[in-house]
Amino acid sequence: MTIGILGGGQLGYMLALAGYPLDFHFRFLDPSPQAPVGRIAPRVTAEYTDLEALDKFAHGLALVTYEFENVPVEAALHLAKRLPVYPPPQALATAQDRLSEKTLFQKLGIATTEFAVVNSVAELQEAIRKLGLPAVLKTRRLGYDGKGQWMLRTREDVERLEQEFPAAPLILEKFVRFTRELSILAVRGRAGETAFYPLVENHHRGGILRLSLAPAPRLTPSLQQEAEDAARRLLQALEYVGVLAVELFECDGHLLANEIAPRVHNSGHWSIEGAVTSQFENHLRAVAGLPLGETRTLGNSAMLNLIGELPETGELLTVPDAHLHAYGKALRPGRKVGHVTLRADSAEQLAERLRRLPKFFQREEFCLSPHATGAAK
Ligand code: AMP
Repeated sequence: MTIGILGGGQLGYMLALAGYPLDFHFRFLDPSPQAPVGRIAPRVTAEYTDLEALDKFAHGLALVTYEFENVPVEAALHLAKRLPVYPPPQALATAQDRLSEKTLFQKLGIATTEFAVVNSVAELQEAIRKLGLPAVLKTRRLGYDGKGQWMLRTREDVERLEQEFPAAPLILEKFVRFTRELSILAVRGRAGETAFYPLVENHHRGGILRLSLAPAPRLTPSLQQEAEDAARRLLQALEYVGVLAVELFECDGHLLANEIAPRVHNSGHWSIEGAVTSQFENHLRAVAGLPLGETRTLGNSAMLNLIGELPETGELLTVPDAHLHAYGKALRPGRKVGHVTLRADSAEQLAERLRRLPKFFQREEFCLSPHATGAAK
């Protein structure tokens, strides 16, 4: 069976690596001739809007999925006329617009941040009157890794922004004083069966995910239940097939949904070594109509993103149960070029192994302070 994947970045790369043992073949479509999957799978280099290229790409495929959430919905709909496309294009459309995402949360009774639609300076002023400061202004579409966002703390911040008002549909969100950021990875199969990974705690710097801890420290059954309930409602409402990520803020012991990603997610990379079945394998099982795999964790894991540079491999691998994943991308500042997963049998052992990581990792941006890693817990 050959599976077509729209997008050829590291998520596609890891999907293929998880899929080869299951006897799947892969074909990718990506506009960039440098897409990392090029070294492991056939790839069509074309724009997503090139219908002729899409038809050529689709020839002989069993189904199509995606690893990039900003694939134009029209491309997914075009392909869906001739073969199964999972997750459904409707889920892609919802996740691409913060307004439809938040509207869906509200419709399903999932708590989310207070927000207001903003299309003009007058609407911004009205929204600030309603929500107050501080607040975060975001483009409704195409924001990622903190791009397309403006933090508004003071009246001066607002005045400055008004001078160069962004020419895009926007949404203003009340600034949430969250305790921490969490995410849940959920998966739904073609027959509607579901499975959930434990909540993961995420740490960001400069708008980019740096560290994920799985399971999240101090995770209670009720918090996990709250996250699973929200994810289950989303999976059902979207008639979802595949892995869905829900990003959450923990606030006063409860969860607020921030956004969803209709694909495998950076905060699930730990599952390659840290769970019985990885998010990548489970996504493929789901879309191919195979039984879902167990999501149980194997001890405690930490995932550290490698941004712009890679550590010295030999030195890293002296730490027990440390695993390097280099994506084969050119090293450029600010770019995710790989990740490391550190697995252990307990939270204490994980904290001890994190302390043993080479000097390369003992920098502020890896977020390995005792507070972040729960080392003192
Ligand atoms: P997003 O693109 O929505 O995931 O936002 C990127 C990051 O900005 C989040 O991971 C948070 O750290 C922060 N952030 C986004 N929205 C809010 C908010 N309403 N209140 C506080 N922090 C936020």
